[in-house]
Amino acid sequence: MGGPCDEVFEGKTAEEVANMGGQHIMSSTDAAHKPMREQMAKSSKEEKDKWMVWFKGEWDKK
Ligand SMILES: [Zn+2]
Repeated sequence: MGGPCDEVFEGKTAEEVANMGGQHIMSSTDAAHKPMREQMAKSSKEEKDKWMVWFKGEWDKK
């Protein structure tokens, strides 16, 4: 999903895949994922909602 690694997340819904990606990033400890961890940690609920809208749009293009 365009992250710092080649991890592929499979799910039936955009929410499912987004949650898996989020958990993967938050459970990482390496430097490659650090910018994304910090981005997620400081995002407000509004920003996360916006991202989810974008992600669902990308998902629907498939
Ligand atoms: Zn990763």
